Order: sequence, then C-alpha cells, then structure tokens
Amino acid sequence: MNAGPEPTPSSLARREVPHREELRELYAVLDAELARLGPVCLASGRCCRFREHGHTLFVSEPEMDYFLAEAPAPSRAFDDGATCPWQDELGRCTARDGRPLGCRIYHCDPAFQDVAPALSEHFIGRLKALATRHGLPWNYAPLHRHLSQRCQEIDFPGPAGQ
Ligand code: SF4
Repeated sequence: MNAGPEPTPSSLARREVPHREELRELYAVLDAELARLGPVCLASGRCCRFREHGHTLFVSEPEMDYFLAEAPAPSRAFDDGATCPWQDELGRCTARDGRPLGCRIYHCDPAFQDVAPALSEHFIGRLKALATRHGLPWNYAPLHRHLSQRCQEIDFPGPAGQ
C-alpha cells in the first residue's frame, strides 16, 4: 500500500497543537453558554451548505490547527466552496468535536439571530487573546481558503461520483 509522501516537518509541528487544551476549554465554555441560551437546531444541515444558504464559514488559524488534528477524514470531496467536506450524505457533521466557533454559534433559529452577533464577537475576542498568548498567526479566513492552503495534510475522497 502506498502510504503517500512523508509529512513535512511543518505539518507535523502543526499537528502537535500546543493550544489544544486551552481551545478545548474555550469551546466547552461556549457550548455551555449555547446550552443555556437554547437556540433550536433542527439538524437541517443548512449551516454546512454555504453557497446554497448564502453564508461563508470563517475560521482562524489556531482553530484550523485544532480542527485538522481532531477531525476524521472528510466524507466528501473538496469543492469550490459550496459545501463543507465534513458534512455527510445525511447532512450531519462528522467533525463535531473539533468544529470551529462559527459552526458552534451558527443556528437558523430566527429567535437566535439577535443574540448570535454579540456572542460571536465575545468568543472571537477570547480566541484572539488565546492566539496572542501562544504567538499564533490569526489568519481569519474562509474555510476553503485554509483547506486549499493545507490540502496536502488532508485525505480528501475523490470528487462525487468517482
Ligand atoms: S465542520 Fe461540521 S458543522 Fe462545521 S461546516 Fe463542516 S460539517 Fe458543518
């Protein structure tokens, strides 16, 4: 079996994720706050079909490091930005433990739309402070820009239908 090219030292270093525990704790605080606020999730999968529903998932570099270290192999091919490769054919997220802040906060619930921006701003501020403490680049960018920059680290399946 062809194991593929050896990972580069830089990608190995990225996979160590020294901020892993701190970010895990930050996500736990956010998840607890979301549980308290109680937005409704109907598991429509809208949040992961970006183009169809007119939104873009922005992710910071520290979150991307964590996400790639925690996530399983993607369940669908890398497309041009229309969908998330970690959404399965039933519309479910296959990378829930490592999913970034934007995925956690986004809810379609109309009653949550007034609350979400302030919650997002607060936790992005905490995330920036974490990045500063660890001397990490911020690089807040669309998910697909990160993926195109780091696609050699990720074992994408072939395009749909192949
Ligand atoms: S990481 Fe999960 S929740 Fe976030 S966009 Fe991808 S499939 Fe959806």
